[in-house]
Amino acid sequence: MTAIDLRSDTVTRPTPEMRRAMAEAEVGDDVYGEDPTVNRLQETAAALLGFEAALWVPSGVMGNEIAIRLLTRPGDEVLAEERSHVVQYELAGMAALSGVMPRAVAAEDGVLTPAVVEQARKPYAYYRSDATLAVLENTHNLAGGTVYTVEQTRAAVAACRAAGMSVHLDGARLWNAAVALGVPPRALAEGFDTVMVTLSKGLCAPAGSLLLATRERVEQARRVRKQLGGGMRQVGVLAAAGLVAIGTMIPRLAEDHEHARLLGDALAAVPGVRVPPVRTNIAVGVLPGPDAPAVVSTLRERGVLATAMDARTLRLTTHRDVSRVDCERAASALLETLRS
Ligand SMILES: *Cc1c(COP(=O)(O)O)cnc(C)c1O
Repeated sequence: MTAIDLRSDTVTRPTPEMRRAMAEAEVGDDVYGEDPTVNRLQETAAALLGFEAALWVPSGVMGNEIAIRLLTRPGDEVLAEERSHVVQYELAGMAALSGVMPRAVAAEDGVLTPAVVEQARKPYAYYRSDATLAVLENTHNLAGGTVYTVEQTRAAVAACRAAGMSVHLDGARLWNAAVALGVPPRALAEGFDTVMVTLSKGLCAPAGSLLLATRERVEQARRVRKQLGGGMRQVGVLAAAGLVAIGTMIPRLAEDHEHARLLGDALAAVPGVRVPPVRTNIAVGVLPGPDAPAVVSTLRERGVLATAMDARTLRLTTHRDVSRVDCERAASALLETLRS
């Protein structure tokens, strides 16, 4: 029996329709801007998200790091929630690649409210560095797939602008937020200078993310991408899967969210486990003791793969390659493991 893999939605494999589209993709040299499939994906994504232009990038990390490079100068600070991806999972990329450092702040549910932004401001002094950029994350991964609503997004962007900052959205799972809220993705992308969205998580493409911005900024981003080694050639074979991803895979995320709620309910049924409300495809359980790695290995023996985010935090992520029956089975394994 193959394991039920709830470690991440990145484990999803391309669908048969993607494989076909990849095999038949019309391609050219994208470093010359001549790959018609890449160009079509970029134009489609820009229209979908309400931006002038988009740039295909090989990974979400590269998209975030290019945005940070474009919107800061060395010596600046970047306001971000302390559990956010750019702070926790990008190997201090902002420091190494852009010469900036995070001003990491704690926020309930990972959502930067105007009060949090205001609190993070420092009075001007010539010997203190400025935060010139804020990075918001929607959905917020480590907080448990939590969402910024359209109103919360507007309020946070306005507060950051009032504090003199540019604003980047790490929207690796923006699609999930849009489906959970029942709003078009562009409603959650409005007002940002740059937005990064990922094709290779819940949408099942094998690789690829997009960075959205003005046409001028996308041209600058293309230069930084090349400098980072991300200029690729006949990458239309991957973009073809990306077109299927944004064209057909967004609505089905609702199913993943339902399955995650089922897992969240199982976690919440165990006394002492704290479960942040499950809004999207991530269920997080904070255990009473530092047992998350041990729980993960017991679950593995029972055929369920999960992730320990830290000593106490267990994360289960649903996606297209786990069915409702798989999730029910995983829920029983969770209850057995956590109750013993
Ligand atoms: C996965 C993820 C990324 C990075 O995407 P990669 O394609 O793995 O580089 C960025 N931000 C968030 C919130 C993510 O979950």
